[in-house]
Amino acid sequence: MTLDKLTRIDTRLIFLNGTWVASAGAGTIPVEDPSTGTVIAQIGRGTAEDVDQAVGAARWALEGEWGGLTATERGRILMRMSELVLERAEDLAMIETLDVGKPLDQSRRDAVALARYLEFYAGAADKLMGTTIPYQQGFTVFTLREPHGVCGIIIPWNYPMQILGRAVAAALATGNSVVLKPAEDASVSALVFAAIAAKAGLPAGALNVVTGLGADVGAALSGHAGVDHLSFTGSVETGMRVQEAAARNAVPVTLELGGKSPHIVFDDADLDRAMPVLVGACMQNAGQTCSAASRVLVQRGIYDEVRHRMIEIYRTLVVGPARDNHDLGPVVSRKQQRIVQDFIELGRRELTLAAQGELHPSATAGGNYVLPTLFAEVPPDHPLACQEIFGPVQVLIPFDDDDEALRIANGTDYGLVAGLWTRDGGRQLRMAGRLRCGQVFVNNYGAGGGVELPFGGVGKSGHGREKGFEALYGFTRVKTVALQH
Ligand code: NAD
Repeated sequence: MTLDKLTRIDTRLIFLNGTWVASAGAGTIPVEDPSTGTVIAQIGRGTAEDVDQAVGAARWALEGEWGGLTATERGRILMRMSELVLERAEDLAMIETLDVGKPLDQSRRDAVALARYLEFYAGAADKLMGTTIPYQQGFTVFTLREPHGVCGIIIPWNYPMQILGRAVAAALATGNSVVLKPAEDASVSALVFAAIAAKAGLPAGALNVVTGLGADVGAALSGHAGVDHLSFTGSVETGMRVQEAAARNAVPVTLELGGKSPHIVFDDADLDRAMPVLVGACMQNAGQTCSAASRVLVQRGIYDEVRHRMIEIYRTLVVGPARDNHDLGPVVSRKQQRIVQDFIELGRRELTLAAQGELHPSATAGGNYVLPTLFAEVPPDHPLACQEIFGPVQVLIPFDDDDEALRIANGTDYGLVAGLWTRDGGRQLRMAGRLRCGQVFVNNYGAGGGVELPFGGVGKSGHGREKGFEALYGFTRVKTVALQH
């Protein structure tokens, strides 16, 4: 099945004010299949002029039909979108697999997660309330939660459907309108999502999708004076640029950036339970996960055993074409492949290479494949232990006690997620309290991704929270009303 048959739309067009139009610049960007390097489609190369039109359409929607709906009506439309996403889940999954090289089962999970975000925020839409405030005699004071207005949402290529789902569904549930800028390496599912939204009855202008390059569309959106709120997910460097641009218009920003998340494995851990999770939490999506557990900190008493068991698992890992559902698919682009290979070369020169997985014979030279790679006895200050690699590379770091584990875990610029493996209840609570990050998982990692669980970082991992009910606060602002009587 070819990509155009799966999408049922012309991917060169952008989605403005409820209709498909050619970008003002009329340029296109090729879509490459990361498993083969073949060009399989083109997407529109949007311009600042397109962004301007999209922001205008989003403003108009707030003043028109979309802005006039009740919270319950918004929720019903989101629920319909969720149902339609599930109906097309298989198409969406294959589209993602061809576009970003994600193994098919992982793409299927992403499509279901997108539907689940829509379902969760559909239900939440009319359950967000203000408060009444006890105040002086003669006053009644209450707060209203209002949408920001036009939300610019800029997303990366690694989990396009999930990240789109968590931001767009929460923004729409709270009554904002959206201009979405998907990543240039992963725009096709966002375009199909726009078609689904229109079919579900989302009023024109509530969602606009402008594809294109970050330097054109992303920069224009983050600096646009007509935008009221920005939600950015991506790299630290770009996030800081977006925040600078937003600051010039005094626009609030949520930043979901990178990470160098640790698993901390104590000598009382249940290793049979931990082992597959330790590896899977980094190898998922070929390591291209912001919350990838790319550092494994192991207490010295069990270090040799963990090292041995991890090597055994690594030797079974196979990387190959995404549609064949191997443990890992290719990374998204040649550029990403080069970045990750450079880290591996650095590690080979300076560290102990403990194990690598293998390439499936069906993988061709045109694909962006990287072998899953484990380095052992890595000093905590080595670049491979403190810089985000965003590829299938994991490091093992020994430690002696709780304080040293904390020092290492908290010792990078990032603070997104941490995993703790210990049966000691007191230690679970003490460590969870002292870890500098946005989520801590005890004797698991990720808790199945739960859309209900607030997510976000500290330090260079960003600020603000998405997912769960918390996102609804981020996509609204409080107005206080004081009545004197
Ligand atoms: P990126 O920063 O290069 O791109 C992200 C988005 O920003 C893309 O849509 C891109 O086109 C756009 N962009 C690029 N330049 C821009 C500019 N000047 N102004 C505005 N927008 C611009 O990131 P990436 O390479 O696509 O994604 C990888 C990074 O994203 C990693 O660091 C990863 O950790 C992070 N990430 C974080 C989370 C999270 O929730 N914390 C989730 C996924 C990915």
